[in-house]
Amino acid sequence: MIAEILCVGTELLMGQVLNTNAYFLSRRLAALGIAQYHQQVVGDNAERLEEAYRLALSRADVVITSGGLGPTVDDITKRVAAKVAGKELVFNEQANNMMLERFRQYHRQVTPNNYNQSMFTEDSKILINDHGTAPGAIVPMGEGKVVIHLPGPPFELQPMFTNYVEPYLAERSGQLLVSRYIRIFGMGESKVDSLLEDLETNGNPSLSPYCSLAEVQMRATACAHTKEEAEKLLEPLIAEVRRRLGDVIYSIMEDDSGSLAKSCIGTLREKGLTVATAESLTGGMISATMVDVPGASNVVRGGFVTYQSVAKTMLLNVSKEVIDTYNVVSAEVAKAMAQNAREKLDVDIAVSATGLAGPDGGTPERPVGTVFLGISTRTQTYATALQLSGDRARIRELTVKYALYQVMKEAEKL
Ligand code: AMP
Ligand code: MG
Repeated sequence: MIAEILCVGTELLMGQVLNTNAYFLSRRLAALGIAQYHQQVVGDNAERLEEAYRLALSRADVVITSGGLGPTVDDITKRVAAKVAGKELVFNEQANNMMLERFRQYHRQVTPNNYNQSMFTEDSKILINDHGTAPGAIVPMGEGKVVIHLPGPPFELQPMFTNYVEPYLAERSGQLLVSRYIRIFGMGESKVDSLLEDLETNGNPSLSPYCSLAEVQMRATACAHTKEEAEKLLEPLIAEVRRRLGDVIYSIMEDDSGSLAKSCIGTLREKGLTVATAESLTGGMISATMVDVPGASNVVRGGFVTYQSVAKTMLLNVSKEVIDTYNVVSAEVAKAMAQNAREKLDVDIAVSATGLAGPDGGTPERPVGTVFLGISTRTQTYATALQLSGDRARIRELTVKYALYQVMKEAEKL
């Protein structure tokens, strides 16, 4: 199988944008063992693009385009491919639904020209765009050849390629892909990157970072003719990643369905432990995130949402003196919340969170993002101080993640 990359966009010819898509796609194709003999870059010009398609299709089986899928008049990539295939673009319901869904998500208004993004040839296979509004597609061009349309923005193109195009290409070339999703918490992206840099080669197996909020995820993928062969390629890589990162890896799975909540609940279940929450700034989010996991009812006993100080006193017996002496955002209050929640609900582990989510209320001593997490077990009670950054939503979400992580780590020890 021979592939050819065809990047569309005048900005690439003008040197306004570096052609990182060609770089990314080339490395991935090489990792998949797919040959590439030529590449092309062409401006947003229908005549020259048509010429480029015909040339590419005369010498390659798979032509991968990047760019020009948007709604504006210079977005001609699909239209010209359809012309070369001798077909019409027609309204595609699946693509349209996907596009409308993204507009809803991004709270953006759909304008009439956006419907260009829903137009594909009848036999196109739509590729979901998880990070933008323009769907991609695999378009049959006759004689078993295809054009694969990908969006221009790299953060849209890359996940679309790895999630949807790679499995297609692997299958087409009689191979399969086996992946491991490595989830990391408690180590920043740049630290992880510096520890694994030399392993992130994009070869076979490949190791690449995967986007995820406030966590680091790595995907290790091997391509081979059998699952066993692929797993054999992955084994030493995974062992090396484990050796270098150690404890900060909290799950390694075959798909990307893992989460801190799942791992946390899984550990509690394995150990036969019960858990309770005492929440201030997260207002029940820690508990809700745990309960999202099926099977949580075996381990999550309940929790307290004690937002105002007076609620901490009324529901959790946190004394007014402790609050006044140490401040409501303090290790002492976090500890008292956790300990009282554990005693009241008679659980093995209780976790508490008190902190400043902002945007107001910060002081030089306690800036916005100051959070104390309390952990109480039947043998000890302690608190951890966090200094989180970001807006209110992010600080609260990060607090939840740290809380889940702390509970999981504590459960592992019990
Ligand atoms: P388009 O899908 O053609 O509207 O492209 C949208 C944006 O994606 C462009 O403005 C560029 O910033 C980026 N882009 C397009 N093609 C490439 C490429 N080959 N490499 C890197 N970035 C690109
Ligand atoms: Mg463009």
